[in-house]
Amino acid sequence: MFKKIKNDEDVELRVCKGCDAPLPFKPEKISYFKKRNDICDDCL
Ligand SMILES: [Zn+2]
Repeated sequence: MFKKIKNDEDVELRVCKGCDAPLPFKPEKISYFKKRNDICDDCL
């Protein structure tokens, strides 16, 4: 009952310059911007 589920409010989104899609930037665990700050890992 006391387990906290992370919701979207904890996730910071950033728009990728490559695919123009808002993708999670924070937290780092689910970040798509581990290699570059402006382009997501999928586009690289
Ligand atoms: Zn991208």
